[in-house]
Amino acid sequence: MTLKSVHVVGGGLAGSEAAWQLAQNGVPVTLHEMRPLRSTAAHKTDGYAELVCSNSFRSDDKDHNAVGLLHEEMRRLSSLVMHAAGLNQVPAGGALAVDREGFSAAVSAALAGHPLITLARGEIALPPDEWDSVIIATGPLTSPDLAAGIRSLTGEDALAFFDAIAPIVHRDSIDLEQAWFQSRYDKVGPGGSGADYINCPLSREQYDAFIDALIAGDKTVFHDWETNTPYFDGCLPIEVMAERGRETLRHGPMKPFGLTNPRRPDVKPYAVVQLRQDNKLGTLFNMVGFQTKLKHGEQVRIFSSIPSLQNAEFARLGGLHRNTFLNSPKLLDETLRLKANPRWRFAGQITGCEGYVESAAIGLLVGRFTAAERRNELMMPPPPTTAHGALLAHITGGHIETIDAGPSSFQPMNVNFGLFPQLAEPAAYDRDGRKFGRGSAKNLARKTALSERALIDLAHWIGAQSRAPAATE
Ligand SMILES: Cc1cc2nc3c(=O)[nH]c(=O)nc-3n(C[C@H](O)[C@H](O)[C@H](O)COP(=O)(O)OP(=O)(O)OC[C@H]3O[C@@H](n4cnc5c(N)ncnc54)[C@H](O)[C@@H]3O)c2cc1C
Repeated sequence: MTLKSVHVVGGGLAGSEAAWQLAQNGVPVTLHEMRPLRSTAAHKTDGYAELVCSNSFRSDDKDHNAVGLLHEEMRRLSSLVMHAAGLNQVPAGGALAVDREGFSAAVSAALAGHPLITLARGEIALPPDEWDSVIIATGPLTSPDLAAGIRSLTGEDALAFFDAIAPIVHRDSIDLEQAWFQSRYDKVGPGGSGADYINCPLSREQYDAFIDALIAGDKTVFHDWETNTPYFDGCLPIEVMAERGRETLRHGPMKPFGLTNPRRPDVKPYAVVQLRQDNKLGTLFNMVGFQTKLKHGEQVRIFSSIPSLQNAEFARLGGLHRNTFLNSPKLLDETLRLKANPRWRFAGQITGCEGYVESAAIGLLVGRFTAAERRNELMMPPPPTTAHGALLAHITGGHIETIDAGPSSFQPMNVNFGLFPQLAEPAAYDRDGRKFGRGSAKNLARKTALSERALIDLAHWIGAQSRAPAATE
């Protein structure tokens, strides 16, 4: 029986991978790409899977790095993007970097040569009603007409055009000997406990040095097409606040009022940095109000000067970018179908992941979900212990509802081990049976154990797919 075509809109990292997975699973696809008839502010070519900036897929270390693990899982799931990256790898130490033209050419040739893939050039302003299965993978620079169409279907607040990201820290890297849990004035709020924030105190001297460092710090400049950043939305970068007056931050995100250090109740901190729980697992905390355009290296250097964050490990650093993304936890179901219109699925960065690899990985999953649906087969999402599953859980529901009246905490995120359910028993011994002390050896062993668990669980999930009964059985 010939299956009806699925339409994939956007031939970037996610759309190319989704189309490939569909075709490899026997489902015909039409892949719509608007370039070169219309381009975005960042793309330069008419190639599929164009890398708009760096040529790196980041770490390829599957044992100690979550993105390296994601690479490995994608290879095991026959990813076109990983195959083309392997063919075009250039030397880059422990990272997987590629010759960008060769990479895009390899993806384009594979798509063009597949008998079940039809390549169509042209902007899709709104998928027509007769398309009964559509994957929207139009990325952070989705064309304005399509963005308007998505917005009219999902609601005003459901599609963001900028991200304003405060740094996110792994909870177990915060020094809780110096910091303490407390909500301002012990307020319980709608969903809190009265002790929801981690508070990092600064003395007057430490605050002064911090302000000097912020003002002097090296900042990223906006691209021309990003200059309309939403400063007006009440999310000023902290360095801009510092430039407006030395005390501004102390009356804004670094307010010390209503907070008492239980270890030193007699000493009032001059300023306090607060961190709020960022995911349901409680493994990640964001620095409240700390969106910034400081360069990444500068963020690590300057934020590590805050007492109790000296050894902070950042799950993501702060930023402010032009970026189109959905409020996915609210709008999408567990296989990334739009609840309001299940004919549409979303894939790639528009769902709220971040990065080339993550976008391709979500394209891979959505291609497989859609293929299973077309073939009337049952397909469960991958377990959250895998890198794919952890990323999917971040997109569909990993974020806590706000514990106060603050903005929603859902922001695009790279894959990282903080998104994985933690191990019941953290590794206590190395492979030679020696007990770990505190510190990095233990941390590395924990990551290795998370990776090993992920690959075992992925193998079970892949095995279950091959035995999947029909969805209607
Ligand atoms: C300026 C910039 C720099 C970035 N740098 C990096 C980096 O260095 N490293 C990294 O890992 N990530 C980076 N990212 C983040 C992100 O991971 C990449 O943008 C990634 O390409 C996202 O993949 P995607 O498939 O979701 O979207 P894209 O790869 O952008 O693909 C979307 C495709 O959809 C097409 N399209 C849009 N609207 C329509 C329409 N209506 N009809 C038909 N086609 C349409 C576009 O032309 C594009 O080809 C960057 C993002 C931006 C904006």
